[in-house]
Amino acid sequence: MSQQTVLVINCGSSSLKFSLINPTNGEVSISGIAERLASPEAFIKISFNNEKSVIALSAPFDHQIALQYLVEFLNKHDLTKQVSAIGHRVVHGGESYSQPTLINSDVKNSIASLAQLAPLHNPVNLIGIEAAEQAFPELKQVAVFDTAFHQSMPEKAFIYGIPYQLYKEQGIRKYGFHGTSHYFVATQAAKALDKPLAEFSGITAHLGNGCSICAIDNGESVDTSMGLTPLAGVVMGTRSGDIDPSIIFHLINQLGYSADEVDTLLNKQSGLLGISQMSNDCRTIEDAIINDNNVQANLTMDIFCYRIAKTIASYMAAISHFDALVFTGGIGENSDLIRERVGRSLALLNIKIDADKNSAVRFGKAGSIHEQGSQACLVIPTNEELVIAMQTQQLIEQGE
Ligand code: AMP
Repeated sequence: MSQQTVLVINCGSSSLKFSLINPTNGEVSISGIAERLASPEAFIKISFNNEKSVIALSAPFDHQIALQYLVEFLNKHDLTKQVSAIGHRVVHGGESYSQPTLINSDVKNSIASLAQLAPLHNPVNLIGIEAAEQAFPELKQVAVFDTAFHQSMPEKAFIYGIPYQLYKEQGIRKYGFHGTSHYFVATQAAKALDKPLAEFSGITAHLGNGCSICAIDNGESVDTSMGLTPLAGVVMGTRSGDIDPSIIFHLINQLGYSADEVDTLLNKQSGLLGISQMSNDCRTIEDAIINDNNVQANLTMDIFCYRIAKTIASYMAAISHFDALVFTGGIGENSDLIRERVGRSLALLNIKIDADKNSAVRFGKAGSIHEQGSQACLVIPTNEELVIAMQTQQLIEQGE
């Protein structure tokens, strides 16, 4: 009997990531990415049976063409019948969506109207949904929202200190992102500690190109560092994270920046890149510290780790008990240096990182990195695609 799989789609403005996942055992039969969409250099990379094929896309070089190539590939390898549904990562679900949702025209309309809050993401997510509807007209499509897990936050965590009607009338509040990842690693952490998710409380740190920290109390998100948009919170690859909002007026009124220039500065030229003046990639900054003892690289890393540690410590105000600190994301899963520096600042929370364990748990491994007698610190590789596949399958089965 053939295994049912879910096609998981994650659309960016010039890319479309996909994987065909068996939601029961997590097996990935096909994965890949279409890149440089909207340009004549557009191509699609497909990994299947340990082989990678790279195919140039034809005009109009868009998301639709990329999916047509994928459909042809699935047909050629007799895999189309195994696809039971399609799960889409959608960035912003606003207050309307706290659960995975079967896509229909109303849902598409509300994803479109939420583009006001996520102009860079929701419109391209919608392009992916519509391209998939055309490529797989007979299949059900499910939206899994990045904001959904954080819908359990209490008002005291999500209301900003600005006039309340801006929340009531315009939806300006903290939403939080990376929800699927925080949910996944919290679930895995609870399993590792042998308790149900509903009894797990702790802090999850998703540290990648974008970084966010989440306070989880008895299985629910109760606070998180990103806000109305993914610009808020800790310092990231190119994003500033939290700054004094008056810096924006200073840039505009005193230094002559336009609003768009400030937007670019804070989203694309700040963070690790802006401080180090070297790179947004942690590996480059770490190399500069280890090989050259570079002063600017050291300062960048100190700022990055201090801000993460400070946020983790502040979340002690949000949770009722503290089972574990969990690291995930490209940096959290791989950088023992950053985990060690973050841990060093949290000694008063009885966090003590074991150097040998810390250097051993990298490159896709999961494990604990704390000394005996310390608060539990875990490294758990995230798997947002698997969550999307599982939630999609679950919803489809409920509807049958
Ligand atoms: P993500 O957005 O989760 O894919 O994470 C991407 C980031 O992870 C990259 O920009 C790197 O900064 C970081 N990263 C990946 N591998 C390593 C590594 N071995 N050591 C330190 N940082 C890493």
